[in-house]
Amino acid sequence: MPKKVEAWQCSFCGKTRKAKGTIVKHEKTCFKNPKRKACQTCNNRSEERETFYNRYNGGDPGSTDTEYFFEYCGAKEEELCEYEYNCKQWRPIPRSILKK
Ligand SMILES: [Zn+2]
Repeated sequence: MPKKVEAWQCSFCGKTRKAKGTIVKHEKTCFKNPKRKACQTCNNRSEERETFYNRYNGGDPGSTDTEYFFEYCGAKEEELCEYEYNCKQWRPIPRSILKK
């Protein structure tokens, strides 16, 4: 028979543990906590896609076109490869966007 357990959940990312202390500690360092000023909650971060075309693919143009998804930092104007936190260029995401 399964047992019902009580658990605690991070209000930012949803991580769940049975021990409250673990989650209390986690929330302070959670990258989705806006107080961390991490890329995950920054308005400069965007999700982009680019298509790579291969025109000469064995006479079958377009058959190997691939879509490439990446994250972009609008402040640094470069691809976002590693998440940072306590960033000086961090900008909050406007509430109107978060609600969607
Ligand atoms: Zn979390």
